[in-house]
Amino acid sequence: MARKRREAGNLELIGGQLCLDFTNTYTQTEVLHHEYLHHYPDLLAWSRHASLLNDDQAQQLDQKAAANPTRATAVFDRAIVLRGTIYRIFAAVAHQQTPLPADVAALNAWLAEAPGRPQLVSAGAVFTWQWRQDASALDTMLWPIAWSAADLLTSADLPRVRQCARSDGCDWLFVDTSKNQSRRWCSMNLCGSRDKMRRYYQRKRGISSKG
Ligand SMILES: [Zn+2]
Repeated sequence: MARKRREAGNLELIGGQLCLDFTNTYTQTEVLHHEYLHHYPDLLAWSRHASLLNDDQAQQLDQKAAANPTRATAVFDRAIVLRGTIYRIFAAVAHQQTPLPADVAALNAWLAEAPGRPQLVSAGAVFTWQWRQDASALDTMLWPIAWSAADLLTSADLPRVRQCARSDGCDWLFVDTSKNQSRRWCSMNLCGSRDKMRRYYQRKRGISSKG
């Protein structure tokens, strides 16, 4: 059976933190450029998929966006800018570099503007955020993403942030929670096996060309 096409609403959530999963909606490497968020409905689909919104909220926002296309586009553009900010911060961290002050300032600007923190609400064994402010605002899903970035930056997990080691075609970020902190790829399925295969054939070619 053909593998289901990867899109915003079914993309692998392998980052271990919401903010990293959000950056993984885009890939830009020397050999691959892939965007999973093309417009506001994709942001909604991903937010639903990442459990930032429930079905009712997503549907409500979808209708609201359709009625306010200019506003929805503006929110979408801000989301993409936020994603770039978060990506650059954690890509720097993953390579033991200091994030650009401009990016930290941009994230701080988000935090300063953020509405009050939402409350935790339990639904069985699962907890979700419940916003005390207007959950029907078109940008309601962006605040938890910004908070997640701030939380990760101040958490003990920060040194575990990694970037996929696949030598072509992947720049995804993740928190390495493996026991001996040896996770190299965003996922063995997606990148680990392909990378190993590529290196194998490269080695093989290298050897045969010498022979
Ligand atoms: Zn990868």
